[in-house]
Amino acid sequence: MPRLMIRNVSVLVVPEQGECRVDDAQDVHVQDDLIVAITPTDPSDQADEVIDGTGLLAMPGLVNSHTHSPMVMMRGAAEDLAIEDWFNQRIWPMEVNLTPERVRVGARLACAEMLLGGVTMFVDHYFHADQIAAAAIESGIRADLAPTFFSSMEKGTEAALDATRALARLHPRITACLGPHATYTVNEDDLRRAAEVARDEGFRIHLHAAETDDQTQASLDKYGATPIQVLERTGVLDAGVLIAHGCGIRVTDLAILERYADRTAVASCPKVYLKLAMGEVTPIKGLQAAGVSVGVGTDGAAVHNTLDVWEAIRMVALTQKQRENDAEWMTISDTLRLATRGSAAAAGLTGKVGVLEVGHQADVALVDLSGPHNQPLHDPRAALVYSVRASDVVTVLVAGQIVVRDRRLTTMDLDEVVADARSLAHTLVDLSAGGAVQHYDP
Ligand SMILES: [Zn+2]
Repeated sequence: MPRLMIRNVSVLVVPEQGECRVDDAQDVHVQDDLIVAITPTDPSDQADEVIDGTGLLAMPGLVNSHTHSPMVMMRGAAEDLAIEDWFNQRIWPMEVNLTPERVRVGARLACAEMLLGGVTMFVDHYFHADQIAAAAIESGIRADLAPTFFSSMEKGTEAALDATRALARLHPRITACLGPHATYTVNEDDLRRAAEVARDEGFRIHLHAAETDDQTQASLDKYGATPIQVLERTGVLDAGVLIAHGCGIRVTDLAILERYADRTAVASCPKVYLKLAMGEVTPIKGLQAAGVSVGVGTDGAAVHNTLDVWEAIRMVALTQKQRENDAEWMTISDTLRLATRGSAAAAGLTGKVGVLEVGHQADVALVDLSGPHNQPLHDPRAALVYSVRASDVVTVLVAGQIVVRDRRLTTMDLDEVVADARSLAHTLVDLSAGGAVQHYDP
């Protein structure tokens, strides 16, 4: 691949601790898929391809640390419902209609939406994950994919484990997790089996656990253990896990998670907790104090309505300040660190993505902060958390490849992607077939 340079750009620097900063007038040098140098701008520097970064801010491409990408097909089709009805009246009856083609068409739309908004990687959990992989590869985005299984699916566990094995070998931009759906839909035997395969074959596990405190209480009543204790006794924590949501993680669970902190991450998707009135948000302060990595995600668009990670980042800052009743908590620097380093850790790619540093993947979003909603620009870091819009993203690189240029996808025909999704969307939300893929009763 030729040598590429982003010339004369402001670069967001996210240290492991302390304040983030923006270094103006930098050249970012890319060779193949890697950042090879970041230097003060020098007009005599040459490259095969030069992107003019004048007036733009370069930041690490965003990572959506928990989503179900094909659920964009159900955007706006399950509104004003509590979690039980959302699952039992809408989502799980709709998912009877899933086919490989419908999943692929949805995933292509999701990849387009995310790339145009500066998202360079998503961590996904869904059915027909091979189709999601195909969409990700085509679009140029990076993805970590967990093929979903319930214990109620006949031979579902072994088939899903095989699907993970196949995905892990597929493409340099694709990684794979084992995907038991949740502690309330997968029994302890199957969680143990997943943990054993994860340990033996070097996979991580991505699942939903302790989504609400009601779930935690139900687990205590049924099994005498919190969902986190179930994950410990089945070996899932020992194997290494990404937990989606964790709003029902109790103080007593934090001491358990601390013992596995080096291989545990939690993805927080707070818009969903507000919308479904789940009562709590992820206890990020306690998790971080226990050494657990926390990232930010959107969850599926059937509840989040967008795959806009900027929106999720803003929600994390706002809901954490509210939760802790402390306006000085979750500062702009800490929010940006969670959204970059934290989400990279949640994706299992610490040291590879999440920061713009030499030796990291060239996953970059170039953002234009000149719009009226960002001006005057006293602090670009504050703009990135509180006023930026996904449409402010101008150019996006993934693994050194330009996938969005001047707000247009280079890899897919957006009109065709949207038309395909519109032509099939009604088949996904049709409930006339009856039945459901699962029943919510934690
Ligand atoms: Zn989810």
